[in-house]
Amino acid sequence: MNVPTIRGIAAGVKRFMAVDSDNTELLRAQLNALSRLIPLLYFILVANAWVMALTFWGKAPDWLSLYVAMALSAVCAFRLVQWWRRKGVAVTDRQAVRELRRTNKISAVLGVLFPAWAIALFPYGDAYAQSYVGTFVTFAMLSSMLCLIHLRSAAVIVALTVSIPFAAFYASTGIPTLIGTAINLLLVTVGVVIVILIQYRDFTRMVEAQKRTEMLGNENLRVANLDSLTDLPNRRAFFAHLEQTLDVAKAGRARLALGIIDLDGFKPINDLYGHAVGDRLLVAVAERLATLCPSDTFFVSRLGGDEFAYVVANAPDNDALVSQGQAIVEMLRAPFPLPDVTVQVSGSVGIAVYPEMAGDADLLFERADYALYHGKGMKRGGAILFTADHEAQINNDARIEQVLKGADFEQELSVVFQPIVDTRSQATIGFEALARWRSPTLGQVSPGQFIPVAERTGMIGMLTRPLLRKALAAAAKWPEGIRLSFNLSAYDLSSPESALAIVAIIENCPFDSRLLDLEITETAFTHDFGQVQRSIEMLRLLGCGISLDDFGTGYSSLSRLHALPLTKIKIDRSFVTGLDKSPASFKIVKSLLALSRDMGLDCVIEGVETGGEVAALRRLGGLMVQGYFYSAPIREEEVLPYLAGPVERRRAS
Ligand code: C2E
Ligand code: CA
Ligand code: CA
Repeated sequence: MNVPTIRGIAAGVKRFMAVDSDNTELLRAQLNALSRLIPLLYFILVANAWVMALTFWGKAPDWLSLYVAMALSAVCAFRLVQWWRRKGVAVTDRQAVRELRRTNKISAVLGVLFPAWAIALFPYGDAYAQSYVGTFVTFAMLSSMLCLIHLRSAAVIVALTVSIPFAAFYASTGIPTLIGTAINLLLVTVGVVIVILIQYRDFTRMVEAQKRTEMLGNENLRVANLDSLTDLPNRRAFFAHLEQTLDVAKAGRARLALGIIDLDGFKPINDLYGHAVGDRLLVAVAERLATLCPSDTFFVSRLGGDEFAYVVANAPDNDALVSQGQAIVEMLRAPFPLPDVTVQVSGSVGIAVYPEMAGDADLLFERADYALYHGKGMKRGGAILFTADHEAQINNDARIEQVLKGADFEQELSVVFQPIVDTRSQATIGFEALARWRSPTLGQVSPGQFIPVAERTGMIGMLTRPLLRKALAAAAKWPEGIRLSFNLSAYDLSSPESALAIVAIIENCPFDSRLLDLEITETAFTHDFGQVQRSIEMLRLLGCGISLDDFGTGYSSLSRLHALPLTKIKIDRSFVTGLDKSPASFKIVKSLLALSRDMGLDCVIEGVETGGEVAALRRLGGLMVQGYFYSAPIREEEVLPYLAGPVERRRAS
């Protein structure tokens, strides 16, 4: 059994009486509670002292009754004012510790002075006055202990300094009533000390509990602002930070930039390797982006999916911002070695700057988003700054949208036809129908402008139907065997209704549907893949061919393309331009041709403009081509004369 040593007991007492300087929350709670009760205590003490002084006035010398009362009142009043002024004022931990220790000391001093004064007055009183001395001391002590209940050490100091010496003094008088009072005083003191210890324990527990609740609250707040997958700040935190830094920028007339980062090629990785790999890739991307975060001017977060965004406070000039965006793009291009596979993606960044391009958070975001998705046409994989040109483009699109809404499509839309030529025989084997819109208010608008607007606003179906009818009606008059290619939008295939409307038009037209090729781009698969697949299968049942347009510009995985009943691919113009001069383009077209052969698909090469390109394609064995070299799109009434014309007129080389 452990026998407590003197030193152990002393250490325990010291701990018991000490102010816990490490427990910040407790210190503050104590100071807070004391500052409410101690002014009351001093008021009670002063009132008590004056009742005492008046009781002995005329009996004891004035210096002892009045002047001491005055002196004690002055000390009390001084401390009362000090505490009063502290109410609601923030203090440091060290100040709090100092104040609590001072309270302990002053409790000891007053705990000695008050009973000593009472004992000094005692001899001058009659029996009543002498028994009043006990009442005075008891009242003063109990009220002090109660008001000091939140500082256990001070309450106990008062109990010890007052009760023991005074009880000893009272007992020493030998008067039985006073001896009884002394015993009573000691018992009451013990009782009150026990009550205070219990109360103090509950008080510290309550402070502890409050501290835990607060910590839990902070943790909840942290979790609510964090993306659970990547641990980056989430969308909510991003916009909160954006608003906050924007306010600072506004106040300080500073520039602020917002960048949105989109991963190109994330979806195929997710589809091919599964979500677990996709998630790991996102975590790895976040880790790379986080390395850009050391300064407090750069704040990066994950908005959701494969979209990340950042805010640059005190933004540098536009060139530096684009370089920074470019650096992010470069960083994302490096391969990601994940546990099971190594994958590669690329990123695009859209940037908008306050105050030049937008004055508030929403517009800033909208414009960075615009720069990201429309900035360089459909070219991806770079950092693009929102510019005045984009603003003009937005206004232009808004105007197109407005006019499109009131347009008479039957009247204003027409189709032109661009020949598709077999390079071996120089024979035209078909035509691609291309939309033309002549608006009474805007004049001729290119499809590159109005088709995206119609797609974005959901109006495309209303354009597709009259265009398809017109194209089929024209093609029905062509000689036997000439094929027709027609462009469909993703939207046309992404609901059963719109797909059925297209089927109905094809069925109601005398043109042989087996000679019809419907062109779709890879963007169609970013919608509802299952529905697009069903729509395509339905069209295949009519005998129509399905061509994959702009092949090579998207990011669809090959496994995905295999899942579709495609009949043709069209190699995008961007690979063909200058392919006779650029070995890189030559290689790409070569491998795309090989790929299409492996997949058992026909291949059309678009945008052939020069004899050199045709010659190079012949060497590669590319059979079907389309482009200005043979013919620009021609009007419906020009098709039959074109077909009847000599082969040489079609610029055969
Ligand atoms: P697209 O389907 O890739 O069509 C080819 C575009 O390239 C056409 O532009 C065509 O005129 C142009 N082109 C043809 N040969 C050459 C060449 O040798 N050099 C160059 N530089 N360009 C050439 P257009 O008619 O302005 O159409 C642009 C895009 O608008 C089309 O690209 C297609 O995505 C869309 N589009 C056109 N008509 C329709 C339509 O009826 N429905 C839908 N949904 N989209 C359409
Ligand atoms: Ca096309
Ligand atoms: Ca194309």
